[in-house]
Amino acid sequence: MSADTIKKRIAIFGSTGSIGTQALEVIDANPDKFTAEVLTAQSNDELLIKQALQFNPNIVVIGDEKKYNRVKEALSATDVKVFTGINALEEVAAMDCYDLMLAAIVGYAGLRPTLKAISNGKIIALANKETLVVAGDIIMRTSVEKRVPIIPVDSEHSAIFQCLVGETRNKIEKIILTASGGPFIGRKPNYLVNVKREHALQHPNWSMGAKITIDSATLMNKGLEMIEAKWLFNLKPEQIQVIIHPQSIIHSMVQFEDGSIKAQMGLPDMKLPIQYALAFPKRLPNDFPRYDFRKVSTLTFEEPDLKTFRNLALAQEALNKGGNLPCVMNAANEVAVYAFLRNRINFLDMTNVIESVMQKVSFIQNPTLEEYFDSDGEARNLAADIIKL
Ligand code: NAD
Ligand code: MG
Repeated sequence: MSADTIKKRIAIFGSTGSIGTQALEVIDANPDKFTAEVLTAQSNDELLIKQALQFNPNIVVIGDEKKYNRVKEALSATDVKVFTGINALEEVAAMDCYDLMLAAIVGYAGLRPTLKAISNGKIIALANKETLVVAGDIIMRTSVEKRVPIIPVDSEHSAIFQCLVGETRNKIEKIILTASGGPFIGRKPNYLVNVKREHALQHPNWSMGAKITIDSATLMNKGLEMIEAKWLFNLKPEQIQVIIHPQSIIHSMVQFEDGSIKAQMGLPDMKLPIQYALAFPKRLPNDFPRYDFRKVSTLTFEEPDLKTFRNLALAQEALNKGGNLPCVMNAANEVAVYAFLRNRINFLDMTNVIESVMQKVSFIQNPTLEEYFDSDGEARNLAADIIKL
């Protein structure tokens, strides 16, 4: 059999989310290329059951143990195996039944299963940027040891990855990460202090899960992406520039030593970077809408406003200092975002929480994996104390 006729067996960790459901659309449209072998969800049992009945995977994992019986029962007429429990994700990540993990869990929760998959030699299509923010050094070191490719799904990093194809011997001068600016572009703190969750959840260009949508509104998402880029492409902090590009047509750019800049462009649609990562190194045909230069003929660029969107400045500080600071920042951010989503704190409070947690947790220059876990826990406790959760 030629490589073209062997189907890639995909495990989608986080199949019920925004990335996970779009990945299943890609798999559904390419049944001769991919099969879905593992699907996992934290709490949306209904959608997980529906997906399992449609795609007939080998295994499903439901994180919420209270929902195990319902899932098991609903799939009793099939041969789908159902797992639950705190170790289930890591156990399944180590199994032989799949070739490529789409890491599409949101937040820190994605770290352990992704690391387990890398340790077991699985190809990674990485949407879960927090994994690299928390422990990028360990993730990248392990992927080199195990010769495991990590193919980015995040649209900016997919853009950079695509610009770098064929350029392995050429030095990068810098990368330019584009940011839409989110729904509050041009706004000042006196406006932001009154912003409500419903408003912050309306992203102008992308439809995404709640956490990343808030991160996009605060620009923390771009900060996380700077750190993600540092690890993926082995860059120094000063080689990473952020530019606001409200149309989200240029997904990011690479400038080489000779000053030449390559950009990757297209309409904002996550199915494209998802499909690219699943099918890499091949490109697959599809019927996604195409960008037409005659219709959106103005592309604009501006500097990010670091004084208003201080989360981006905090992330730059974490990027520059390194050690456990990005991990600490990420944990505080997760707690702050969920507190904002539950209307416990206001939009600007999120930054204050993250800043004080970053000041309080003791700095470790070269943390072990255990120290990353501890720093995450300590930062979460501190953030919860500050918010009085
Ligand atoms: P989402 O909230 O829509 O979905 C998250 C998925 O993770 C769900 O399937 C959920 O069941 C699962 N999950 C949540 N908490 C979990 C836990 N504690 N343990 C196990 N599973 C858990 O999120 P999303 O928007 O699809 O984003 C997923 C990841 O991809 C994030 O890291 C995000 O930053 C990144 N990403 C998303 C987009 C996008 O367009 N949505 C773009 C770029 C990067
Ligand atoms: Mg992105």
